[in-house]
Amino acid sequence: MKFMYFFDNNLKRYTMYGKRMLHPAKTDNYKLGVSAIKEDDVNVWFYTKGDTTIAIDSGHLDFKGAKALAASIGIDTDRISHVLLTHSDVDHCGGVDKNSRSKLFPNARLYIGKGEEVYFDGAFCRMIKCGIPLMNPVRLDSYKTVSDGDIFMLDGIKVEVIEVPGHTAGHVCYIIDDKVLFSGDCLAINALGGYSLFDFFTQNPTLNKRSLIRLKERIENSTIEVVCTGHSGIWDYTPKVFAHIDESAKSTMGKPFDPTAPKSIRK
Ligand SMILES: [Zn+2]
Repeated sequence: MKFMYFFDNNLKRYTMYGKRMLHPAKTDNYKLGVSAIKEDDVNVWFYTKGDTTIAIDSGHLDFKGAKALAASIGIDTDRISHVLLTHSDVDHCGGVDKNSRSKLFPNARLYIGKGEEVYFDGAFCRMIKCGIPLMNPVRLDSYKTVSDGDIFMLDGIKVEVIEVPGHTAGHVCYIIDDKVLFSGDCLAINALGGYSLFDFFTQNPTLNKRSLIRLKERIENSTIEVVCTGHSGIWDYTPKVFAHIDESAKSTMGKPFDPTAPKSIRK
């Protein structure tokens, strides 16, 4: 198993224990057609309109019980035709990796930011830790790339793409039907508002902050009602969502980022 998958599936729960950095939404149906399943520390999001459900991100590689979790909130992942990926990290793309054994979305077409391709051909490493370059092990069978400003319809659902590079090279956010923002991993939000996601996980924190200023300007006078994040759950949109984007989220045992987050990511 490639190191980043090994870390994600076996070590992350220990390194994150007690830090209260990540607080995904629980598996449930929310408002405006939004649903989520919780795969430990990350959400796989769904958006339903009429008979159509699309997914946003795909969670961990072979996450045990993912299909059953989705079924518990009325979603059959075999019937999903479109998966919008915010970025290529293992906890967002593992579920659709071509080497996944459980195939969470076996019949879906995948969409991902054009800028993420640098990881697939090995041209770019995802991060350097202790002087060791860590490669992103995710590989997708086939996918369609999306770019900033793209607007398209998926079975009657409007999708708008906003490039937000920083966390990864080609990270994108999606605005769905002009009312829901799926922000992936650019923002970490707690009761005080939104921050640039933790530096440890972010490839280029300065670039991420710059992208967040642009995203804020795009959203400010829009009709967005809710914001769905990768690891901080779902929030009603208010200007508070962008209140601290010039700062990186920080968490220590003494001063956890989100005191209401569970101690263990397995909870
Ligand atoms: Zn993530």
